[in-house]
Amino acid sequence: MSHPTPPAATNFLRQIIEADLERGRYQGKRWAGRPGPAAVQAQGEPDPARIRTRFPPEPNGYLHIGHAKSICLNFGLARDYGGVCHLRFDDTNPEKENQEYVDAITEAVSWLGFDWQADGRDNRYFASDYFGYMYEFAEALVMAGHAYVDEQSAEQTRINRGTLTEPGVDSPWRNRPAEESLARLREMREGQHPDGSLVLRARIDMASPNMNLRDPVLYRIRHAHHHRSGDQWCIYPMYAYAHPIEDALEGITHSICTLEFEDQRPFYDWVLARLTELGKLAEPLPRQYEFARLNLTYIVTSKRKLLQLVQEGHVQGWDDPRMPTLLGLRRRGYTPASIRLFCDRTGVSKSDSRIDYSLLEQAVRDDLDPIAARSVAVLQPLKLVITNYPEGRSETCTAPRNPHDPQAGQREFPFSRELWIERDDFMEVPPKKYFRLYPGNSVRLKYGYVVTCTGCVKDENGEVVEVHAEYLPDTKSGTPGADSVKVKGNITWISAAHAVPAQIRLYDRLFAQPHPDGGERNFLDALNPDSIKVVQGWLEPGTRAEPGAVWQFERLGYFTADRELSTVERPVLNRTATLRDSWADRG
Ligand code: ATP
Ligand code: MG
Repeated sequence: MSHPTPPAATNFLRQIIEADLERGRYQGKRWAGRPGPAAVQAQGEPDPARIRTRFPPEPNGYLHIGHAKSICLNFGLARDYGGVCHLRFDDTNPEKENQEYVDAITEAVSWLGFDWQADGRDNRYFASDYFGYMYEFAEALVMAGHAYVDEQSAEQTRINRGTLTEPGVDSPWRNRPAEESLARLREMREGQHPDGSLVLRARIDMASPNMNLRDPVLYRIRHAHHHRSGDQWCIYPMYAYAHPIEDALEGITHSICTLEFEDQRPFYDWVLARLTELGKLAEPLPRQYEFARLNLTYIVTSKRKLLQLVQEGHVQGWDDPRMPTLLGLRRRGYTPASIRLFCDRTGVSKSDSRIDYSLLEQAVRDDLDPIAARSVAVLQPLKLVITNYPEGRSETCTAPRNPHDPQAGQREFPFSRELWIERDDFMEVPPKKYFRLYPGNSVRLKYGYVVTCTGCVKDENGEVVEVHAEYLPDTKSGTPGADSVKVKGNITWISAAHAVPAQIRLYDRLFAQPHPDGGERNFLDALNPDSIKVVQGWLEPGTRAEPGAVWQFERLGYFTADRELSTVERPVLNRTATLRDSWADRG
């Protein structure tokens, strides 16, 4: 096939899927409409999904931007190739998981814009629903001589495992009769043994150069309550055993995971091959593919570190707008589309790298620019008095709601004698190339008049508290005389009598270092002391700060009304992103 312009976003996973589809690898695949082993699927119809992928979070924390990458990838591939993506909770670790995380993750995936419903099925699954199959398969592996119950102490097991340069040593229990292992396995299941006393291990090769094949543990004893299966089980499968079975029961075709699982792939295939020989699973089997996880500069994504930030109060919570969690990004003002755009732009690779944080910010700018309403805010207010403008008078000025969208029309706001301007738009003694207000200089009040600065008023500390200027009556923007006076400066302003007061939270990067957890450093030492600055400012009249509302404030950036705290009466705004990357030079 030759294409004049191949799709820009192709990647090795797409190529694999395209080749699989071309070869008809899944042609004979059946799907009973629910997960199950070979016997169940054999009753099914030909699978209407051309491929099946899955996003398999463990419900032990909140999703972050790295998970978004995996979500966009898995759901995106399914969407693009006529497939289905399952949302599967990998809940095989009872101690750390709970329903609260299940709910939060479900909501987050849905918020990102992805749907696990397909062909009238709700493809949201729980690994814990497969415990019965996993156990049944374990007994079958034991009886076929592929697994045994090991009674070595944990210490002995560790020593006998060998090292990268030395082969392991067989456990004395490795060749015990299958019936004996089976009896022990059943005792384990019935709760007759304490945690850690026995394990079920695969019987593969203690001399394998791949440590993961040196008789890996399949089941361990954990007398723990599970948030879904309750106290039904006191033995739980290990991730490496559970995961291939989960994929196979769900008819997954492409099981996509991050690079650190590459060494697990031979065991993944081993489990599936043995269970297929035993008639438990049917071909075509799922295949595992690895890609490089998303790493970003200026953030951390380790669950442990994020938890530490919350628990030690370095941030206000999981949804703190500085957190790289989806909850935090959402509250900061990131839209689902901006996160999807970022994930698409950063591509899929097979080698680890760090993506610059500025790409995330650029994605939200690019998403919001065409849609955000324009408005004016003043963050560091200073009073400007137009001394030749009559007291009590006001008149209307107009400006586009969005310059990219003429259909959106114009907005209106009043001009009057007393205005708020930004404190740094005035200097009593200006440096070179300062074109804004200083005594004797003229600037345009954007969408209003040209004014000439006549002086300022200071308090007893010498701080400027008021600036004075005179306006040139014939220079109003949009009138024939507007261009009669040329000025170099153009500043934003809000009529003081009409301005809406607002609390504005100026967020910046949470970490001041590009690699907060790099090297030997304690990542907390890299926290940015200026990651939040709260100011009391003014908004253009008519700005309704309903939770989640978004604006581009001219000259300042993108802001979102806080979803938890903002009301129209008491606006609380979060800075989502500045207009330009102010970190580029800081390195
Ligand atoms: P844990 O250390 O608890 O396993 P985890 O970040 O791997 O943490 P999971 O809930 O297991 O969390 O992740 C769900 C899915 O998201 C997995 O398939 C995992 O590979 C993927 N994922 C997690 N972090 C990233 C990341 N930074 N980039 C891409 N994918 C990721
Ligand atoms: Mg994981």
